[in-house]
Amino acid sequence: MVNSSHIIRELTRYMSDHRSEIDILLPLFDSLKEHVQAGRCPHRDGCPSVKAGAVVVDERGQALFFWTGTGWGFPEVPPHRSDSTLGFTALRAVMEQTGIFDVWPVEGVEHPLVIDVDSAGPHDGPAAVKFGFRYVYRTDSAFLAPVMGRLGVEWRPVSEIQSPRLRHRVLNSIHFQRS
Ligand SMILES: [Zn+2]
Repeated sequence: MVNSSHIIRELTRYMSDHRSEIDILLPLFDSLKEHVQAGRCPHRDGCPSVKAGAVVVDERGQALFFWTGTGWGFPEVPPHRSDSTLGFTALRAVMEQTGIFDVWPVEGVEHPLVIDVDSAGPHDGPAAVKFGFRYVYRTDSAFLAPVMGRLGVEWRPVSEIQSPRLRHRVLNSIHFQRS
């Protein structure tokens, strides 16, 4: 179940792997701890928004890109309490837009590749800051053939991922799997 305790576990694991990013993530850690301590959200308007999204890569080193209205990127959605994990939330973001389910975790890379910190958007409620947990999943391009006629969904090379940090870590995860 994706509650504050689950997100804390994903977050602390990520922070221990990426120590240079701890400072920027600590506000989320503190807010989640306050949720656990209070048994509810005690933040009237300052609660950070949490979302999850997946980069789905295939055997050719291509990623499933989605047209966001302003560019090619990856969908992200807020977790439901009924999601089993935040990684599943990330997958749901892709499944809801494509109907695909032939997707599996990359062995050894089951935890977030990147946690983005951005200003919250118009759909994030009163939150000031949005934390985007990005996971990587594998598929086979043959499974997605029916999806590829859809407008706004395209296989594009991983090298076209805009964020250098995400691009670098997705590339590493692919190499990790091949080795
Ligand atoms: Zn809160």
